[in-house]
Amino acid sequence: MQRRRPDRDPAFRRTYESARVQGVTFPATVSAGTGVGDSRPAGRPGAGELLDLLRARAHGGTTGTPVTHVERVPARPGTVVDWPEWVPAELRAALAGQGVVAPWRHQAEAAGHAYAGRHVVVATGTASGKSLAYQLPALATLLADPRATVLYLAPTKALAADQLRAVAALGLDGVRPACYDGDTPRAERDWIRAHSRFVLTNPDMLHHGILPGHARWSAFLRRLAFVVVDECHTYRGVFGSHVAHVLRRLRRQAARYPGTPRSVPGQRGAAGGPGPAPDGPVFVLASATSGDPAAAAERLTGLPVTAITEDTAPRGGLTFALWEPPLLPPPTGGPDPAHLADEVTAGAGLDAAPVRRSALRETADLLGDTVAAGVRTLAFVRSRRGAEVIATTARRSLDEAVPGLGARVAAYRSGYLREERRSLEQALLGGELLGLASTSALELGVDLVGLDAVLICGYPGTRASLWQQAGRAGRSGGEALAVLVARDDPLDTYLVHHPEALFGRPVEATVLDPANPYVLGPQLCCAAAESPLTPADLELFGEGAKEAVDALVAGGALRRRPTGWYWRHTGRPEVDLRGTGGAPVDVVESSTGRLLGTVDPASSHFQVHPGAVYLHQGVSYVVDDLNLDDGCALVHAEEPDWSTHPRDVTSLSVVSVRSYLDCGPVGMFLGEVDVTSQVVSYQRRRLASGEVLATLPLDLPARELRTVAVWFTVSPESLAAAGVEAAEVPGALHAAEHAAIGLLPLVATCDRWDIGGLSTANHPDTEAPTVFVYDGHPGGAGFAERAYRAASAWLSATRDAIAECGCEAGCPSCVQSPKCGNGNNPLAKPEAVRVLDVVLTNLAKMAPAEPADT
Ligand SMILES: [Zn+2]
Ligand SMILES: [Zn+2]
Repeated sequence: MQRRRPDRDPAFRRTYESARVQGVTFPATVSAGTGVGDSRPAGRPGAGELLDLLRARAHGGTTGTPVTHVERVPARPGTVVDWPEWVPAELRAALAGQGVVAPWRHQAEAAGHAYAGRHVVVATGTASGKSLAYQLPALATLLADPRATVLYLAPTKALAADQLRAVAALGLDGVRPACYDGDTPRAERDWIRAHSRFVLTNPDMLHHGILPGHARWSAFLRRLAFVVVDECHTYRGVFGSHVAHVLRRLRRQAARYPGTPRSVPGQRGAAGGPGPAPDGPVFVLASATSGDPAAAAERLTGLPVTAITEDTAPRGGLTFALWEPPLLPPPTGGPDPAHLADEVTAGAGLDAAPVRRSALRETADLLGDTVAAGVRTLAFVRSRRGAEVIATTARRSLDEAVPGLGARVAAYRSGYLREERRSLEQALLGGELLGLASTSALELGVDLVGLDAVLICGYPGTRASLWQQAGRAGRSGGEALAVLVARDDPLDTYLVHHPEALFGRPVEATVLDPANPYVLGPQLCCAAAESPLTPADLELFGEGAKEAVDALVAGGALRRRPTGWYWRHTGRPEVDLRGTGGAPVDVVESSTGRLLGTVDPASSHFQVHPGAVYLHQGVSYVVDDLNLDDGCALVHAEEPDWSTHPRDVTSLSVVSVRSYLDCGPVGMFLGEVDVTSQVVSYQRRRLASGEVLATLPLDLPARELRTVAVWFTVSPESLAAAGVEAAEVPGALHAAEHAAIGLLPLVATCDRWDIGGLSTANHPDTEAPTVFVYDGHPGGAGFAERAYRAASAWLSATRDAIAECGCEAGCPSCVQSPKCGNGNNPLAKPEAVRVLDVVLTNLAKMAPAEPADT
């Protein structure tokens, strides 16, 4: 698991000029001319100037600065190399026609590995031209071998469409690139299977369409030379574990159709030297900068992979500011528009807790200010509704200042048609539009780079996504500005006060666990339904495959015959790549019968219980009925003045202990647990203020979850000695649990919504005060394990987050949780710090002892 090699990560080597903003004067104008073409018209402010302007305009009347830190990321020149000899003249000419006259060194290196038959991952920054790294070997091979084929996988249809456009624009004879996804008309599908040699699709289509119909794809699979896995860092957690097996199923089917010997790339070209003859297609993976990309790519593909991590594309300088919205004065009755709640924290600011100005409101104001200054700006926000709110709010305030200026701001989200989104991008690139609020960097076209400013509303969950979003700024204007606006939650608050946790350290390793039995079992059923499993296949599917197959035989899903294991049923297994809890629940608008979306069954009780407010593409719906037998929730459009918050009752029992640390009065454990939870009621809370309007009962069955948990125990005596009174123990543990869940994304690439927790002053299985934190997916997704391995770092950040929060008794920035099933009660903030001190002191005594595996 712990194979991180920071020395190989470019982000780790990057030199940052870091300085606390206090006492540092910034040049009013940052000189441009970094060699990447300064197109900044005269009169538009530079990054430092712009930041000063934002700072001055924000909160004119209040004391203190919202800027907690400023980081300068210096500009970097690019390194160009000659075309590799094996790149045919036709391809060079076509690329030159598109403005690509020579590759950056990392592109040529990655392409060379792939062309020589070595699986390779290129993990470099946004806009570093990762596409060329796979286009070169793939297209060179397609031109040299008129029968070879290439399969390209993207996590989004938008990205696949972009790549299709790029390949098609080269106009190469006989390549016939085509997208094959859920939107492809039936009539075109036959043509694509028969004629396209560069098929662009996504893991879902590969899983649901291509692999089950492999016989019809045999001609394509027979000659499959390359598999391109773009944005491969997005395949993490349960989804990533599923995709890992979909890729193994692809390798298996490609190997089943040997036919004419496949030509081996690289054995023609003298320059790359003949590589080892690959057993099957060569994998080329592209990733955002990530910790140990080779190990992650190896887990994903099951193959040895070489990593190229040194980014040799030129980059403009970036000024990166961390921004904490100020605390609001106590409300004086009546809803205050500044309380405009973030979705996630809506209503979590309870009663007496101080509330910060919402990150949405703050980002909307900053967007208005940058647009007013004539600066092209992208604002990123986590939800579609958030994108709409930011755009609408900024438009309104701009129009108040200068009528008509509001029209230069728009929202951008995945619900729009591709054409609409592309025209918005073009308008922003062209300057007709100055501000765009978007949900995710991944939904944007690859051309949309080189902006003057990027505003990030709330930490996007990982440093990898943070850099991906910030990377949209700074290619054209010499010096660009990025601002991270903290939301009112423990992780964001911790980060804006601990810049060292963001800058100058490697981005996270991608966490996935193909051995999760709840992923492996269903995937083996899919594989067996495609063609009977053989003992050799079990090796392909890796650790745990034999046990999983035996369990499937015992359970009646598979039948053992002398020739292998057979799928026993006529229909295909129903497996959702994004969950492990069975078929997803459909959300249907009753008046029209329109399918709005699907919800994981595990979260359906929380998200679409009767009476729940459900948001879809910025539109608000209310759930009329949740039919669990049919897997269907019926909703109608309605925009009530409240949000809904489910409350649940959870119990947990320990099944087994995998590993533990015995630290005297403190124990640290990793193991399997059974979690039983029942959503018993929900609250309606007023949108603006969070005031509880009503609590309504629900009649839903309990749900069982077997998963992996990390937990710690603390002896009552050591708590008493640390000054935690017995009456405060439940509140102290509960507060520590909330903050620990909030900070877990710091050590694992997860979202706080992926994990659950439970704390108790005396658990029957541990017979001690205990805090459990568990993976919210059956079988676990690797998050609890990361937490266990990094327990000291994780819990000391948790402790600091609580101790450093300026509030008195707990607030959403420290110990309150927006998803608490217990209404954030009881919570004991100062005592939580003492509990964590006891745990950390005793853990430190053990260091550097290795955990004992059982
Ligand atoms: Zn607080
Ligand atoms: Zn709670």
